[in-house]
Amino acid sequence: MDAIALSCQKCGAALRAEGAERFLTCGFCRSRLEILRSPDSLRTKVLEDLERTNAGLARELEATRLRLALSDLDRDWHAERETLMVRGENGGSFRPRRAWGVLAAVIGVVQTVAWYSIAAGFESRRFPGADVPRDGFAFFPYLGILPAAIGIGVAWYQIARARAYDHALARYEAERADLAARLRAQTGT
Ligand SMILES: [Zn+2]
Repeated sequence: MDAIALSCQKCGAALRAEGAERFLTCGFCRSRLEILRSPDSLRTKVLEDLERTNAGLARELEATRLRLALSDLDRDWHAERETLMVRGENGGSFRPRRAWGVLAAVIGVVQTVAWYSIAAGFESRRFPGADVPRDGFAFFPYLGILPAAIGIGVAWYQIARARAYDHALARYEAERADLAARLRAQTGT
């Protein structure tokens, strides 16, 4: 059979092939080409580089896996966050914060101090000259400590909740950043 004239589909270089050949390599751009014959045309088709295709598919698969892992992580965090929030009196929920705990303790202590100031004033008016409360008011010191005790209790609870929340949030953010970085590496963006 005679040699046939062809052009490379990729770079357009003029090529020659033996009549019965089905595949050839372009001498200019090194593309692997398939010779497509039909009754009225003769052309070449670039064969996909199998290795590159497989690598591309593997990257795409890994990117899909990472996207799924990210959405799973986000969903899990939203569910976990619900359990870490503090319920408000109006039915809403809010993120626990250390500062609120500290504020509760300060308010409790201020109330206790105010209680003692008022009680002391009351005592001195009622029993001028007395420097210790009389029997009837002996419960004052014990009641007076209540606001401070409640404030410190609320503070302890708020701070413990805030710690748990912050810890879980930091873990979620670290895992998310790791997945996102791996996804960026796969997609090259
Ligand atoms: Zn070529």
